[in-house]
Amino acid sequence: MYDLIIVGGGPSGSSAGRIAGIKGLKTLLLEKEDFPRYKPCGGALSEHAISYLDFELPESMIEKEIFGGRIRFHDNSIDHYKDQRLSVIVTRSIFDSYLLEKARETGIDFRLNEKVTDITQKKAYVCVKSRNTVYRSRFVIIATGSQGSLKHLVRRPDGKEEYGVCLVTEIEENDEKIDQYLKNIIEMQFGVSGAGYGWIFPHRGYYSVGAGSVMADHLDNPKKAVKDYLRFNGFTGEHKLNGHVIPCGGYKREILRGRILLSGDAAGFVDAFTGEGLAYAIRSGQLASDVIAELIGKRSDLSELEDYKKRCNSEFGEHLRYSLFFSKIMHYFPERSFNAFINDTEILDSFFDVVAFKKTYKDLIKWIVYNFKLAWLKKNDYNE
Ligand SMILES: Cc1cc2nc3c(=O)[nH]c(=O)nc-3n(C[C@H](O)[C@H](O)[C@H](O)COP(=O)(O)OP(=O)(O)OC[C@H]3O[C@@H](n4cnc5c(N)ncnc54)[C@H](O)[C@@H]3O)c2cc1C
Repeated sequence: MYDLIIVGGGPSGSSAGRIAGIKGLKTLLLEKEDFPRYKPCGGALSEHAISYLDFELPESMIEKEIFGGRIRFHDNSIDHYKDQRLSVIVTRSIFDSYLLEKARETGIDFRLNEKVTDITQKKAYVCVKSRNTVYRSRFVIIATGSQGSLKHLVRRPDGKEEYGVCLVTEIEENDEKIDQYLKNIIEMQFGVSGAGYGWIFPHRGYYSVGAGSVMADHLDNPKKAVKDYLRFNGFTGEHKLNGHVIPCGGYKREILRGRILLSGDAAGFVDAFTGEGLAYAIRSGQLASDVIAELIGKRSDLSELEDYKKRCNSEFGEHLRYSLFFSKIMHYFPERSFNAFINDTEILDSFFDVVAFKKTYKDLIKWIVYNFKLAWLKKNDYNE
């Protein structure tokens, strides 16, 4: 009998595993893939995400340091820099393996290549079934990402407006050329991908180029959007596209049922405007293990798990709800809002404060409203 079984060894599962190990829980982590495994991702790891790690990332893992962004909308474009680092760029297969190693070093059990096929709750424990084995545990964290149906043991499937799709490809380039094109910044092009954007992120020896939207009902054909975006940027030839669904954060979703908790993408914790998910995956995994360790330590009853919901909500729940509100405003008035973004460096600067998690979306929206900018946008859109 384990104290805790974690299903999924991505950033959320590994972060949960590390805290569980540090807190002394008898823990098993089950991951269906062999590691390192490819993960479709832009690889932008924000300072906000890094702030949750209790260890340094090896310098060799940091491929680029990002201090700003190039925001593009139609023919308009602006490069905007902050005086502090906003994120680093990593390759997910390497980053995820490192996080898993940091969980492993705390002494937890783990098995790769072991897919969980079913989970059933009993009164005093949970049965976790893989192809060959049935394990028992007092608690389970489902950290399986955005795919699969295990999470539906806790929450209903997302409706069409509550998830999207992002696709990405990697395009080799030499570092000198990459630095000439994107020196310490990432590129985001709005208006090409429904209620999302196309991106070019500079890695070591390659670009990550992708497009998508976290709202599927705003983007009929994600594959075509990426192909058009690649062509628009002069990336000709055949490029293998990888990607998958991505939940749109900010919607109300159940994240706890009995002895089972959801974390990361499985819980729907993704910024609805930027698509950032790593910070919330890491933090929610940590909080889930923390709350379980407290319950076991105090020998409390299951109601103590409600604390998980409260802590997620107070740390980032409101932020994600406002990210959805902000995204809707921006994409409802695209001409005015993205041009305002590009032409008004004050708005852009405040947005980068949100990316740095120094301001919340709520602060940003309030700030825009106080400056009567929203009223100005509305008036002009209605007059068109
Ligand atoms: C194209 C794309 C680009 C993105 N770019 C960025 C970015 O630049 N920055 C950012 O912050 N976010 C980005 N995101 C979002 C980010 O990738 C996710 O938010 C993040 O990976 C969530 O972590 P997770 O641990 O919850 O899930 P995952 O990383 O998906 O990990 C889940 C793990 O669970 C395993 N698993 C699944 N089912 C089972 C099972 N039944 N049994 C055992 N194991 C199982 C999987 O193999 C996987 O290893 C991007 C997403 C996409 C699709």
